[in-house]
Amino acid sequence: MRQLTCTGPATVEWRDVPEPRLAHDGDALVRPLAVARCDIDLPLTSGIFPIREPFARGHECVAEITALGDGVRGLEIGQRVVVAFQVSCGTCRSCGVGHSANCDRYPVLSDFGMQPLSGVEYGGMLADLARVPHAEAMLAPVSARLDPVALASVSDNVLDGYRAVAPHLADLPGSEVLIVTHGLKSVPLYAALTALALGAARVDFASNDDDVLAVAERLGARPIRTEFGKPERRYPIVVDAGLTAEGLKYAIRSTEPEGICQSVSFYPGGEMPLPLGRLYTLGIRFSIGRVHSVAMLPQVLPLIEQGRLRPQDVTTRVVDWEDAPAAFLEPAIKLIIRRA
Ligand SMILES: [Zn+2]
Ligand SMILES: [Zn+2]
Repeated sequence: MRQLTCTGPATVEWRDVPEPRLAHDGDALVRPLAVARCDIDLPLTSGIFPIREPFARGHECVAEITALGDGVRGLEIGQRVVVAFQVSCGTCRSCGVGHSANCDRYPVLSDFGMQPLSGVEYGGMLADLARVPHAEAMLAPVSARLDPVALASVSDNVLDGYRAVAPHLADLPGSEVLIVTHGLKSVPLYAALTALALGAARVDFASNDDDVLAVAERLGARPIRTEFGKPERRYPIVVDAGLTAEGLKYAIRSTEPEGICQSVSFYPGGEMPLPLGRLYTLGIRFSIGRVHSVAMLPQVLPLIEQGRLRPQDVTTRVVDWEDAPAAFLEPAIKLIIRRA
């Protein structure tokens, strides 16, 4: 079968690889229907982490089940599913409390399509077939009437944007929200989309990226063009989404006393300065960590099914499956690759 494979910095190509097979009775095989490019995919392909061997690409997808192990209950062949991008068992202590990103049974950062992070190749979703272990935990059925293109990013970046604001708006309903974007593309837009859908009084979107600002404005957020100097006001809920020390500082300085600054940034390499004295003195809670894909899916899928959350409004480019190798390396805020 064909698999989109990263063979070196900024190089991807279709490669013939053996078809995956069911290896355990809890496994499923799926055929990806639409795959989204995650905000980390371009940096990962360009070699932000050392690329020691070719690795499979693609981890945000909606797919169709083509085979199930004998032990799988509650799923059917032919069913359409969102595939959690983090590999997790669903039964260990961490999975049991919703911390599926840090499943006890797998090395840290065990994800599809991101072999350089964990050192383990789990296969990628830009392939004709993928093997999904622990299918009962990792596959979330979705209505076949929903467009796969709209659902392609739900397993990761949509959830990431959602969790950045939803729990905080539940604590402080109707609050004003600021999203600070300094390098990430789609996650902060999904956070804005969520804040608007969940009734934030005001959603401001600060960035130095004009293209992302234009999409944010189209969604209904108020764009703030900034180079991350002095913030113009403060907010009870602030989302930090980016790569730079200046952006992080701006996000924290934009947070009200006793407010929450939620970071969805992965800050590769080096150390980031954190103004602990300011956080202490003003009682600002700073929260950072990875999304828990399996645990979050049941919260977000109903909002999409009800039409309250429309991830498709963030999509800026849709290409055919055949065009994946070229499109995967080209800039776009949110790229979706769909099977014909
Ligand atoms: Zn991702
Ligand atoms: Zn687990």
